[in-house]
Amino acid sequence: KKYYTIPKIVEKPLNFINGAFVEASADQVIDVVNPATHVSLGTIPKFGATETRDAISAAENAFESWSTTLPRARAVILRRWHDLMIEYGDNLGAIITRESGKPIAEGHGENIYAARFLEWYANEAERIYGDIIPSPRHGVRTTVIKQPVGVVGVITPWNFPAAMITRAVGGAIAAGCTCVVKPSELTPFSALALAQLAQEAGLPNGVLNIVTGDAPAIGSALSSSFAVRKLSFTGSTKVGKQLMRECADTVKKLGMELGGNAPLIVFEDADIPKAVAGIMAAKFRNAGQTCVCANRVFVHESIFDKVVEGVVAQVRAFRVGYSLDPKVGNFGPLINPQAVDRVEALCNEAVKAGAKVLAGGKRGPGSGNFFEPTVLTNVTHDMSVCQSEIFGPLLPILSFKDEDEVVRLANSTRAGLASYVFTENYKRQWRLSEKLQFGMVGINDGIVSTPVAPFGGIKESGLGRDGSKYGIDAFVDIKYVLHSNL
Ligand code: ADP
Repeated sequence: KKYYTIPKIVEKPLNFINGAFVEASADQVIDVVNPATHVSLGTIPKFGATETRDAISAAENAFESWSTTLPRARAVILRRWHDLMIEYGDNLGAIITRESGKPIAEGHGENIYAARFLEWYANEAERIYGDIIPSPRHGVRTTVIKQPVGVVGVITPWNFPAAMITRAVGGAIAAGCTCVVKPSELTPFSALALAQLAQEAGLPNGVLNIVTGDAPAIGSALSSSFAVRKLSFTGSTKVGKQLMRECADTVKKLGMELGGNAPLIVFEDADIPKAVAGIMAAKFRNAGQTCVCANRVFVHESIFDKVVEGVVAQVRAFRVGYSLDPKVGNFGPLINPQAVDRVEALCNEAVKAGAKVLAGGKRGPGSGNFFEPTVLTNVTHDMSVCQSEIFGPLLPILSFKDEDEVVRLANSTRAGLASYVFTENYKRQWRLSEKLQFGMVGINDGIVSTPVAPFGGIKESGLGRDGSKYGIDAFVDIKYVLHSNL
């Protein structure tokens, strides 16, 4: 456990290009701070288009040999990388917590989740099957093979600093692609620690490159490069749309995991303790900063008070505070002061329009970017808390009477990522799972993410799926080969 502590990684401002840690000059750096304490964790390079082009060239060169390695050889390295992530789990979990602020239990949880993508895709590497199609004519055979798309650009957000990287990079590398990754500048050290471990696992130079700095400059260098054949983006809908436009000129493949506005519906026949637990898990993980967080909770009027009472009791039991030490707190900060301002404004706006605060409702404690976990009732669906993605610890609870009405409201959004339903009625479970216009439906559960299932959205929540047997599709081209004169 010698290398992978934050002090080592942050000794110098480093990026990872062509298998080497490249240092920036002291005047070309970005400071990274712990969102819970505002203490500086170190600096990273403020690189731009030039360094991104170097990284793309490295990835392009590495593609020639990496794309022709045997799938098993790729699997062995991915598996070793996974094993190292588990071996150094204590360090990696702490890095995630220090830079994102999430409670240490969630930091360790994310590290395991992140490592599992490498394990999953290691196994998928050997299962990228083609097809033989029954011949349309005599003397002819029609076959389909799948080949890696080429260099993949990967742009990731700060809310899961490790997992958003491994779920894209794991699939790309398993398929035989090479990558240029731009992590969020707010949480870059997880990415750099992963690069160290990848190198130790035996990943050849240039297969994985990490560049940090001026996000729009790096983004444009990736999206305008013809060598980059696929862009995998996880982040806001606004930036995603912009990158889609930028990628049009080179007709790149796109993987887009954008914002959500998840409904969570509790019917009168729900198991109430399960529903309360589901609301807590779906809303408050990572202080509400996940794209699958419940954004709008609808509870049937007949059980409204009971459910609200259960939720409020659990919300009041949270201990807000930095939890690298779990004794100190179990509810972390928001990522930066702007996020606190935004959440506070959303909360105040709702209150002004008539919402009632049953728990929380203000910033603090201390100087970190904290906002209390907050329960709002008397909410109407036209309020901004329901119309926009909150991405913070505000829980608006609305009451409803009728299934058709609630389904109509739930679907009345351009987002289509996750949704949740609590009901013990099996017919309703099937009915709702088909009626809800979302890429994922959790029935009687508040957590849906796992590497074995296809994660992704419909409508403006994105394109493509990560994880599962479908995830690898994003990184391969289908080639049809006709054999004639046989
Ligand atoms: P979030 O609200 O989750 O921070 P963003 O879309 O702003 O969502 O950020 C997600 C990722 O996109 C981050 O790595 C960020 O640096 C990057 N990013 C932001 N703006 C651009 C841009 N114009 N071009 C490319 N990447 C960008």
